[in-house]
This record gives sequence, structure tokens and C-alpha cells, in this order.
Amino acid sequence: MGIISCNSDCKYQKDGYCTLDSIEKINNSTVSQGCAYYINIKEIKESSEKDELNN
Ligand code: SF4
Repeated sequence: MGIISCNSDCKYQKDGYCTLDSIEKINNSTVSQGCAYYINIKEIKESSEKDELNN
């Protein structure tokens, strides 16, 4: 992908740009935040924190 400016709280966003550099499986069947690849970074962190607590 080219350089894409993005300010979403997405796991692929870094310093205001999208770091997704390959087309992966679409994560959202419905487009969230205007992007089909959007993954909320807070949900990822909360999920991994729960995993750490359960281990
Ligand atoms: S995958 Fe979509 S929402 Fe996520 S940083 Fe890239 S452009 Fe933004």
C-alpha cells in the first residue's frame, strides 16, 4: 500500500500513518472508522491484558 494518512485508534496506525503494508484478510465485515482493516488498539490491549491475568 502507499502512504495513507490516518488518525484512527487502530492497531495499524503509527504517527498518523497507516502501517498496514499488505492486504490481509478483512477484519470487519462492516466497515468501522471508514476502513475495512480497522482493528481497535484498545480492544487488542484489553484482550492481551486479560490473557496475561488468566495465565
Ligand atoms: S488499517 Fe485503516 S483504520 Fe487502520 S491505520 Fe490503516 S487506514 Fe487507518
